[in-house]
Amino acid sequence: MKRSIKQKLTIWITLLMLLSVALVLGILVSVSNSVLMEHTETQLEHTLRRKLPDISKENGKLTFAKGFSFVENGVYTIVYDKSGALLAGQIPLSFPDGVDFQNGAIHTVEGYHVLDFRLPFGWDDCVWVRGVIPVVNTDDIMDAFRVVGLVLLPLMGIVSGAGAYLLARSTVCPIERIISAAEAIGEGRDLSRRIGLPVGQDEISRMGAAFDRMFARLETSFETEKQFTADASHELRTPVAVILAQCEESKAHTMTEEEYEKAFAVVERQAKRMSRMIGQLLQMTRLEQGTQQAVFEKADLSALVEVICAEQPDSEKGIQVETDLQEEVEAWFDVTLMSRLLQNLLNNAIRYGRQNGHIWVVLRKNGDEITLAVRDDGIGIPTDQLDRIWQRFYQVDHARGSESGTGLGLPMVQQIAALHGGQVTADSIEGAGSCFTLRFPAAYRI
Ligand code: ADP
Repeated sequence: MKRSIKQKLTIWITLLMLLSVALVLGILVSVSNSVLMEHTETQLEHTLRRKLPDISKENGKLTFAKGFSFVENGVYTIVYDKSGALLAGQIPLSFPDGVDFQNGAIHTVEGYHVLDFRLPFGWDDCVWVRGVIPVVNTDDIMDAFRVVGLVLLPLMGIVSGAGAYLLARSTVCPIERIISAAEAIGEGRDLSRRIGLPVGQDEISRMGAAFDRMFARLETSFETEKQFTADASHELRTPVAVILAQCEESKAHTMTEEEYEKAFAVVERQAKRMSRMIGQLLQMTRLEQGTQQAVFEKADLSALVEVICAEQPDSEKGIQVETDLQEEVEAWFDVTLMSRLLQNLLNNAIRYGRQNGHIWVVLRKNGDEITLAVRDDGIGIPTDQLDRIWQRFYQVDHARGSESGTGLGLPMVQQIAALHGGQVTADSIEGAGSCFTLRFPAAYRI
């Protein structure tokens, strides 16, 4: 039969409580029996030993000390001669006759503990002093325990059953809340559902809080994913629409050679943009999912930066690239990824640079930290948009002449920086220029 945890806990706790109470009662009964038994035997021995010196023989006549009592502390004292004939003392009513003497050893005869001592007088005369005490009747005690047990056990059953049920309910209730929240989220009904247990230090509250944090992260990543898919399809749709429009137009009208060339140029530009976007998206996804891994090697970053800066084409804008590189800056990095990072920053600096402007590239190593800064005197970025330039597909202003941009360059820069255990920051003054700074530990590698 399938029972809920609540029922199982209640049943088990109740049974355990009952079992413990029964066990305690049982132990009490057996302990009290043996204690009582031991107590009566000690009583018998002590009393009898105390009496022995009070018994003597004067001129062949048995004498007892003054105030001698034959019944004391429940112990009967009886004196026999050496042949077993009764000399003095008091015999309990139901004590049998002719019980053998055993010197110094307690033995039990028909409901009595018996202890005998042989008391010698001279070399051939003696008497037997016998102590007799009734065996304690444990039936009364057993009855008392039985009554206590009969009352206590059902009472304990009710109390512990109720307590166990309350305990199980308070333990299981939060778990039920966790299950219902997880089910709602799992079935995709409501991603914003939270368990919302009161804050506490117990395991269940901590588990609830951990689940809530996990649900929040799931929701964020799901939303990001949704946003990303929407953005990606939107961004890819634009060049496709332009290409289709150009094709339609070329088919519909007879155009001059010059017009055809123009149309092809548009198609080529849009196709290149699309291909760049798809390439960047693929690489970012591979890096993100670990299908492409950074390959760290110890290399001279100064040399790499110098080569890349020197390769920059003297753009139509006539922008000058100036470098200030500390020599032989050795670090662990992925050469391809680091080149991509620098290339992206330089492309942006050129794309958003001014006519005959400047780009300054600075490389420094300070202790273990490497700083690589790319600064330009271009159009800059409005302060209120500085935080958003790291989002995928975000472009500050499409009207700013960045038709070739994809909005993926900086997210990739950030991703590569993170892969190198570093971070990249942007400072900018609109109309005056921007500065992108990468900082990463020289010895970092995975
Ligand atoms: P894009 O392909 O559009 O350049 P990025 O992710 O590289 O995409 O950059 C995002 C946006 O940040 C760009 O659209 C641009 O508006 C702004 N931006 C990036 N670098 C610079 C820069 N050096 N100067 C001015 N604006 C920049």
